[in-house]
Amino acid sequence: MNSCDFCTMPTARWLYIPQVRALAALMTDEGVVVPLPNDGRWKACDLCSDLVDTDDMERLIARALTTMRTLGVPLPDGGPDLEFMATVVMTNFATVLAGVPTKQPL
Ligand SMILES: [Zn+2]
Repeated sequence: MNSCDFCTMPTARWLYIPQVRALAALMTDEGVVVPLPNDGRWKACDLCSDLVDTDDMERLIARALTTMRTLGVPLPDGGPDLEFMATVVMTNFATVLAGVPTKQPL
């Protein structure tokens, strides 16, 4: 069973490998830099794969946040906290969407 690295659903069927491996990191209010987990290989389910292929970052983020909420991950209901969360997700996804990743079946 492969879980999708975008939406976490256990139905990943595709593997994306960015041409350039990039890592994103966050800096907390205390100035601590926290690298985001990303091994340079991104598994995707059919739905997320469509969004990656069409470079639809907005729907990809919406889908990721929705499934996290469904799975019981505590997320803010809105406002700056949710915006921050979306920015974190977007920054991490940008490391694979930037450039043209190679795509292969899992
Ligand atoms: Zn997915």
